[in-house]
Amino acid sequence: MPLLIEFPTWFTVSVAVAVGLSLGSFLNVVIYRVPRGMSLSRPPSTCPRCGTLIRFYDNIPFFGYLALRGKTRCCKSRISPRYPLVELMGGLLSWAIVVVRLDALPSATPIHVAVALLFLYLALGLGLIAASFIDLEHMYVPDAITLGGTVVGLASAGLRPDTDYTGAFVGAAVGFVMIWLPFDYLYRKLRGRTGMAMGDAKLVMLAGAWFGLPGAVFALLAGSVQGTIAALVIYLTRGSIEEPEAVTQERAEMERLIEAAEGEERERLIEEFEKDPIAQEAEPGLLGARLAFGPFLALATLEYLFFGELWLAWLFGYEV
Ligand SMILES: [Zn+2]
Repeated sequence: MPLLIEFPTWFTVSVAVAVGLSLGSFLNVVIYRVPRGMSLSRPPSTCPRCGTLIRFYDNIPFFGYLALRGKTRCCKSRISPRYPLVELMGGLLSWAIVVVRLDALPSATPIHVAVALLFLYLALGLGLIAASFIDLEHMYVPDAITLGGTVVGLASAGLRPDTDYTGAFVGAAVGFVMIWLPFDYLYRKLRGRTGMAMGDAKLVMLAGAWFGLPGAVFALLAGSVQGTIAALVIYLTRGSIEEPEAVTQERAEMERLIEAAEGEERERLIEEFEKDPIAQEAEPGLLGARLAFGPFLALATLEYLFFGELWLAWLFGYEV
């Protein structure tokens, strides 16, 4: 097997960025379709306004959006800037993995190991980006991402230089309990209603599965600090933190369903609704603000992916 070091950097980076942009394009499909319970493979992408099939050359990641100047070819309706943004994030993520993580590998690393690591870290990063956008819009993170990501992290722990199998299992378990115990279990005992932290607990578990206990602790601490700063900034500049529109709509839809149902079905729906963290309207003020925490946990986990060694050096006081 040829070694990673035998390939010129421009080549490795170009291939990685192209792969990242394309996967970012697929990620847009995930972000839109998964919360709506739609299939990822069918139907092919169409214009949301007039239903015209989108041509492959208009679907070229990032550059397609630029060439079209942000409007669809068919009916000139506005394309959400989220599409090129997510594609660009995929490209940047892939670039950063090559120049930060792969570049730090021993020079005798075979190319197939480097490629496997690239795809593993891409899976992690892209999963976290998808989780963030879905959480921002719908205030929940799909289990497919958190549990799936945890399984991949645990299974690949022996292949990556981040931690070992024991570290991954301990990190995942402690990471989950760290959030679940105070914010879900105790909260439920004390307040008699569902906490809203299950998705967050699973995200910290994911960080632990990939980076061991130091990763889980970092995700929680750095995520909390950055989330608090963001909440303060939004509160001070806008005067309030509004819940996402989709959440208000989903609650109204659920209330309509309950209104229309009768008998046992109605009982079942009410019970299900009360377990849902979005059942109550957000309380006014900064403390009741409903700001998704997932994106900050995801951001902190990505920070650990790229700067984890600096944090470890600070934590344990050793030179890296
Ligand atoms: Zn159209």
